Amino acid sequence: MLDAVIVGGGLAGLTAARTLQAAGARLLVLEKENRLGGRLWTHPGTDTKQKPHELGAQFFSRHFQAVWQLARDLDVPLLPVPFQLQMRIGDEWKQARYDSWRILFALPGVPWHVRHQLIKLLRDAGNRNFPDRDLAEYASRYHSSIKEYVVAPFYQTLFFSKLQGGSAKHFLSHFGSPRSQRIYRPAGGMSQLVDKLAEGVPVQTGSEVKQILPDQDWIHIRFDTKQGERELRARYALVSIPGDQVTKIVDMESLNPDDLQLLQQVRYSGTAVVTVSLKHSCGWCGFGFSVPPKYSCVLAGGVFYDRQFLCGMLTDDAYEKWRYQSDDRIKDFAVTELCKLFSLNKSHIMEVNLFRWDSAIPKFIPGMADSFRQLYGKGIAGGRLFLAGDYLQLGCTEGAIRSGLEAANLMRKLLGTKG
Ligand SMILES: Cc1cc2nc3c(=O)[nH]c(=O)nc-3n(C[C@H](O)[C@H](O)[C@H](O)COP(=O)(O)OP(=O)(O)OC[C@H]3O[C@@H](n4cnc5c(N)ncnc54)[C@H](O)[C@@H]3O)c2cc1C
Repeated sequence: MLDAVIVGGGLAGLTAARTLQAAGARLLVLEKENRLGGRLWTHPGTDTKQKPHELGAQFFSRHFQAVWQLARDLDVPLLPVPFQLQMRIGDEWKQARYDSWRILFALPGVPWHVRHQLIKLLRDAGNRNFPDRDLAEYASRYHSSIKEYVVAPFYQTLFFSKLQGGSAKHFLSHFGSPRSQRIYRPAGGMSQLVDKLAEGVPVQTGSEVKQILPDQDWIHIRFDTKQGERELRARYALVSIPGDQVTKIVDMESLNPDDLQLLQQVRYSGTAVVTVSLKHSCGWCGFGFSVPPKYSCVLAGGVFYDRQFLCGMLTDDAYEKWRYQSDDRIKDFAVTELCKLFSLNKSHIMEVNLFRWDSAIPKFIPGMADSFRQLYGKGIAGGRLFLAGDYLQLGCTEGAIRSGLEAANLMRKLLGTKG
């Protein structure tokens, strides 16, 4: 008999599984894909000029404490990335460092009166402990240009997302003290972290959960495998899939109306990652590039792995518009844009690949942070079902790990296990 089933083998689910297993719980992780990691995915590259690269999360910031702790526990070194962000200003690329508060003050092309207002905004936000209110409205109280020059480009770079609907709390919580914004990657790529996390954890990949039905004593789980439909039951379940998909598998009648209403409001930005190998070096150097929304580019930005290989990410606006188009058409749009941005000719391009993320980054609704805390701070559906995932905390790896740890600790107490 299982103590717990964990639905979803991403960072949140695997962190919880590892914690519960160390406490002696009997568990199983069910993952629908044939690989683990979810939105952490280091692609090994093809046998042409493609380098190993990240299709999901690219890097960690220094102030992601849970990430650092986990990497230490797993003995995975985090290596600094010499990130020099190139930002598009008019027809030129200008450098904006990303390793301190300077990202805000040293953004190229921002007039001094706007910077001055920005300092006031940050001071005010700090004094009020990062208000959970509409980011666009909050920023525009200071100077309407702050939105255009500072918040929108940075928001887009971090979230591939439009500013409207974002929460000031979630935006500002990505900033830490000076130097805390230096960025790091695990040696061996993001998947290295996942592989280590999953060592010794019972996992079944290729198992898509279709229905979760709690009753008084058990949680019943129905899932599809290559061999056909299967069913199992456990004392508790943790659902650690993107939040906009939870109500598709959890029996809605078992949820109380407030929890159901909250879950139905979860939204994500989507994006597609386009990887491009060039025949010759493009002469470009720098790790990342960002194109502020005011230049209406279909790409939010991307990463150069070297001078011949890069990944670009679509803005969520562009993805929303084109998600029903074929891969080839989306590749074509993206390549046309890259050629414009880097003065390339299409004949320079050797290979293009595309990967879609329909649920990439959670959108935080202003004023909802406290309500979401209710969702992950307890068992729902009669107390046997728990939730974890980045949408409950902070829209990044740090939030996923924290939510997985919190859920595991709650479950551990109920199971009466050690640890
Ligand atoms: C393109 C991109 C770039 C990003 N860049 C960064 C970055 O630079 N830094 C950063 O910190 N964060 C970044 N993020 C965000 C980060 O990747 C996520 O916040 C984090 O990985 C989420 O982990 P999770 O466990 O909550 O969810 P997921 O990783 O989505 O895990 C959920 C798992 O559940 C599985 N699943 C779903 N439905 C079912 C089902 N019915 N049955 C069984 N299994 C199911 C999925 O296959 C998946 O493996 C990025 C995300 C994307 C997409």
